[in-house]
Amino acid sequence: MNILIMGAPGSGKGTFSSRLKETYNLDHISTGDLFRENISNSTELGIEAKSYIDAGHLVPDDLVNRMVLDYLKNKMPKDNDGYLLDGYPRTLEQAKTFKEATKGTDLDVDHILYMDVPHDILKKRILGRRSCPECGEIYNIYFKAPQKENVCDHCGHELSYRSDDNEESLKIRLSDYDALTQPVIDFYADHGQLKKINADADFDDIWSDIEKAIG
Ligand code: ADP
Ligand code: AMP
Repeated sequence: MNILIMGAPGSGKGTFSSRLKETYNLDHISTGDLFRENISNSTELGIEAKSYIDAGHLVPDDLVNRMVLDYLKNKMPKDNDGYLLDGYPRTLEQAKTFKEATKGTDLDVDHILYMDVPHDILKKRILGRRSCPECGEIYNIYFKAPQKENVCDHCGHELSYRSDDNEESLKIRLSDYDALTQPVIDFYADHGQLKKINADADFDDIWSDIEKAIG
């Protein structure tokens, strides 16, 4: 089963990807995580992407498309039951390239989930986000605080926050989302492919909607 999970920054893609990945044995590919990994390893790709990401801008399509297609075609582990692509495609150009590259192959998409959250909720989610650099668990100081302040419940590592999770960058990320990603959501909706999840709800209710949506 191959899934795309879409939605604005802070809509819960990463949070529910962890659960989807475990439950359905999927390879979770977050383009944001791939970029952050490249940045911390100072690869050529990371160096090129960093300035866009820090400023809250999307990385150019060509760079993202190459990274994703290279991963799906050459690097994806063979022992999963499909992929879960988180944060891609984010522009119509990416959606077009992705469709052309995957149509009629094993990589074709089965479900497209859209995590629907009103913009005014997102600020607190993004500014309160903390995550564990060791095991990847995602927390929120307002909505899902760890038991011990700034320490991961699962592995005891100190939590960190993303350098692009600040007010200035968020404004740009949301306006890029409206201008460039919303048309992709609309495109999938117009083609009857989108499964809309009310992601402004309790964690358990969201999970039960997701399970229903993918049957
Ligand atoms: P995305 O990957 O879409 O950017 P995340 O999954 O990282 O979003 O979630 C953003 C923040 O919002 C995190 O701090 C997370 O704990 C919190 N969050 C996610 N879903 C909910 C929810 N349903 N209610 C409250 N907080 C949530
Ligand atoms: P995310 O972790 O999904 O919030 O992504 C973090 C940042 O990585 C985004 O703000 C973009 O700068 C960049 N990025 C991730 N995915 C994409 C994509 N599909 N297209 C362009 N830029 C992306």
